[in-house]
Amino acid sequence: MKQLPPDKILRLDALLRGAGSVAIITHTHPDGDALGSTTALWYFLTLTLGRKARILVPDAVASNLQFIVAEDSLLDVSADPSGAAAFIGSADLVVCLDLNVLSRTAGAEASVRSSRAAKVLIDHHLSPAVEDFDLVFSETETSSASELLHYILLALPGIGTVDNLPEGTRRALMVGMTTDTNNFANSVFPTTLAMASALLAAGVDRDDILANLYNRYGENRFRAMGAVLSELMHITSDGVAYFIMDSVFLRKFEICEGDTEGFVNLPLGIDRVRISIFLKEDDGYYRTSIRSKKGWSANMLAREHFNGGGHECAAGGRLYWPEDIAGPEEAAGYIETVTARFMCNRKPEI
Ligand code: 5GP
Ligand code: MN
Repeated sequence: MKQLPPDKILRLDALLRGAGSVAIITHTHPDGDALGSTTALWYFLTLTLGRKARILVPDAVASNLQFIVAEDSLLDVSADPSGAAAFIGSADLVVCLDLNVLSRTAGAEASVRSSRAAKVLIDHHLSPAVEDFDLVFSETETSSASELLHYILLALPGIGTVDNLPEGTRRALMVGMTTDTNNFANSVFPTTLAMASALLAAGVDRDDILANLYNRYGENRFRAMGAVLSELMHITSDGVAYFIMDSVFLRKFEICEGDTEGFVNLPLGIDRVRISIFLKEDDGYYRTSIRSKKGWSANMLAREHFNGGGHECAAGGRLYWPEDIAGPEEAAGYIETVTARFMCNRKPEI
């Protein structure tokens, strides 16, 4: 991670201290890093700085992540669009975390764009839309938005160590970093381990976090995982694994938000697989998750063919019908065609 510019830190400090109320916003279908980073900032603003803050999530929180949500901190934009718009409209400061473009805030986008408040971005994705913000902390050489926020908070005047952060902030930072690294399986930097070490030393209960994150799923998740691996997964001759969950499959296994978290990583364990693609049916489009091995760009594939983006080896997007494909049944053919070209054009240097 690069050194955080002192002038930017001072500017952020002034913005945080000068704001009566702060709208903290993250991306649609919030994951552990989205909720961890926003919750960490919420505790800091509320308990350390005594500010009024709300976290605006574009849609509902998955059940396995509910445990980190602080009481009265969250406003679900999809459940209360007018309340969300009113809060954003009246906020003195807007802080966006774990997103690179405002379209990722879905139902909150229009309110954020029309807000006259100062806007801050704290993110770790490629290609941030810097023009939409007054102050940007963008760092790709970091595990998570939570890790970046951790070092930003420590750099603020008077903070210095994790002992000066609220307990809720420490715990939420650990959650966000843990989920975005897939429990230390990817995107781990020396700074990531240093952060984890400091948080552990300060008393964060990692065993409790892991039990909440990974050992409290419904049985349906594992039945669905079995069906994916035995029936749905295809692997092309170029080493592209893909599986498509249509609405019939989603109903059959009673899949809710969060139940399929991590599925897209599974095919990467196979030697000949280079890229893994997971399509999940939504309203008029497939939500797309892409993961790649080193040397193959999930980000480029998402940008070029799935209306999305993300990180080099972990990206996402959407495949719409009738814009991209005639209908949902065309998705497999689309994947086969575009990846054949993509893999041929983007062979890594040997
Ligand atoms: P996931 O597959 O876990 O949903 O997302 C993987 C990564 O890609 C995350 O960092 C996420 O922020 C990003 N991502 C997922 N969906 C989209 C999308 O529709 N657009 C963009 N720009 N990024 C996405
Ligand atoms: Mn993230």
